[in-house]
Amino acid sequence: MCSAELTPEHEHLVETSARQLTCVCQACAILFSGKANAKYRRVPRRILYLPDFQLTDAQWESLLIPINMAFFFHSSTAEKVIALYPSPAGATESLLDFESWNEILESNPMLQEMEPDTEALLVNRVRETAECYLLPIDECYRLVGLIRTHWHGLSGGTQMWEAIEQFFVELKGKSASPLHNNTQAQAREAAHA
Ligand SMILES: [Zn+2]
Repeated sequence: MCSAELTPEHEHLVETSARQLTCVCQACAILFSGKANAKYRRVPRRILYLPDFQLTDAQWESLLIPINMAFFFHSSTAEKVIALYPSPAGATESLLDFESWNEILESNPMLQEMEPDTEALLVNRVRETAECYLLPIDECYRLVGLIRTHWHGLSGGTQMWEAIEQFFVELKGKSASPLHNNTQAQAREAAHA
């Protein structure tokens, strides 16, 4: 946006209609935070690990995601929830069955707190126990990028699976539980006041 040099830890804005990320400095990010109907929206930083997320095998199968990983976000432009999964070609859209999604919403009311365009629900069912996160959408695209660049052969290859494993270890390390996050948010607000 401006010409300030970006640090590796810079923030992102989403161009909502194009679903594109733009790198910005913190001052520019702050300019766009809280603008509900703007062309660009600031991607929040919270990462919530959701250990109590309710998702049955039958519900997951009804979502028709061809691999054991996907993310879901509310697109304000499309006015619906969009399901994407990583593939060697990048993020691929899956047609979402709305009845299944509404059922998941009902059992997981915290999903209503998910910010449109900028936050997503990430489901990882690669390991025996499923892991679910409410997280910034740029983290989802980082995962997509990792998978696209590391993919080898038919099933991805060892390197890719190691990269995925590492991604989720880091994500867990950066995450808070929903309760913790409230405390952190209050602390941040107090610091700003
Ligand atoms: Zn800037």
